[in-house]
Amino acid sequence: MGGKPHVLIVGAGVGGLTAALALLKRGFDVDIYEQAPEIMEVGAGFQISANGTRVLYELGLGPEIEAIRWEPEGKEIYVWNTGETKKLFDLGAESVERYGFPYWTFHRADLQSVLADAVRREKPEAIHLDSRCAGFDQNGGRVTLRLENGSVTEGDALIGADGVHSAIRKSLFGDDQPQSTGCMAWRGVIPAKNLPPGLIRPVGANWVGPGGHVVHYFLRRGELLNFVGIVERDDWHVESWSAEGTHEECLGDFEGWHETIQVMIMNIATPFKWALMGHDPLERWSVGHVSLLGDACHSTLPFLAQGAVMAIEDGMVLARCFEAHDDVESALNRYQDARIERTTKIVLGSAANTARFHNKSLADPEKAGQYVDEEWLPERVRERYDWLFVYDATSVAV
Ligand SMILES: Cc1cc2nc3c(=O)[nH]c(=O)nc-3n(C[C@H](O)[C@H](O)[C@H](O)COP(=O)(O)OP(=O)(O)OC[C@H]3O[C@@H](n4cnc5c(N)ncnc54)[C@H](O)[C@@H]3O)c2cc1C
Repeated sequence: MGGKPHVLIVGAGVGGLTAALALLKRGFDVDIYEQAPEIMEVGAGFQISANGTRVLYELGLGPEIEAIRWEPEGKEIYVWNTGETKKLFDLGAESVERYGFPYWTFHRADLQSVLADAVRREKPEAIHLDSRCAGFDQNGGRVTLRLENGSVTEGDALIGADGVHSAIRKSLFGDDQPQSTGCMAWRGVIPAKNLPPGLIRPVGANWVGPGGHVVHYFLRRGELLNFVGIVERDDWHVESWSAEGTHEECLGDFEGWHETIQVMIMNIATPFKWALMGHDPLERWSVGHVSLLGDACHSTLPFLAQGAVMAIEDGMVLARCFEAHDDVESALNRYQDARIERTTKIVLGSAANTARFHNKSLADPEKAGQYVDEEWLPERVRERYDWLFVYDATSVAV
């Protein structure tokens, strides 16, 4: 591009920060506007599969993420009430061998700090905190961003990385009406030292049961256990990281589940509730010099653990499109076209896992084992996961 464009990003979540870092490293000027007074200290974890760690390594973050990660040995399925176990697949060295990169878990605040520090190393004043976007206009190839604090700023392109309630998405495409998926998530972190030794194996675990499932894995070098418990409940419609529930209510939702689940719930510091709402995948993300990234354009049920990973992939592909195309509009259209089919497939695949994880057959002790064996046959598992993990955002055609 003749005179590299100045890119404005709204939202300093994992997606906005990755995009900013990838752009800065390619010589673009970037400013990020984040509504929070500090980089969000959400007490929760996420799993980042090889297709995400590949991008983090490419951005030069290897040593930093190695210091904060936890590495699961593999993934296991557990039957909700008996605890009967089946291996899903190996991770550790196996992930590196098969996909080139590791499958790791992170505390969100740790990974966001690593990304924010790396952005500030490239441009110390790039992240503007306490800066909530109130609206924007685009005119004659320039974008004007208005903040709630009254300030106005201009750039050549605007990226809405402002999450599931994206104001930029609403301005571009109107207010969507999120649908209830009939599910809500309980979340919590547990200090590992509070759990009986040996209770939890060093794997990513997925307990499947009629009408619900539980995922857990360690974080932060194994110091914390991340708990996510999904139940089919239609009476909670708030998508928020800070809505608290009680231990009693959470235990009530997992009545009859294995003792291990009860012990974990009782040891959660604070149980939080997140409504899992459905947002239909968009048909386009870009209009002129404005586009979207991450949950803002493809929020998903977390049942393939790919929401943050997709946002990381988006950030890398976006930066590569700016580098490869001569004008902002072509770069943003190419970015959208390069990403939309894959992200839509992941959103639909995640939704399809609801019926698989919550299947009624699991209620019947005679049928549960057979159901798990058939549904998680090694070749079926590969078919469901390999295409996710082999994707290379650092070299896919742009
Ligand atoms: C229970 C649960 C478990 C999950 N587990 C996984 C997992 O294991 N692996 C995985 O890959 N994904 C997982 N996800 C999904 C993942 O959390 C999201 O996909 C990811 O956080 C999206 O990142 P983002 O940067 O697009 O948005 P966000 O992380 O939501 O960041 C958006 C940012 O924009 C800011 N913002 C919003 N509005 C404005 C505004 N008007 N002005 C300025 N700033 C604004 C917000 O403050 C925030 O910092 C899970 C989700 C849930 C709910």
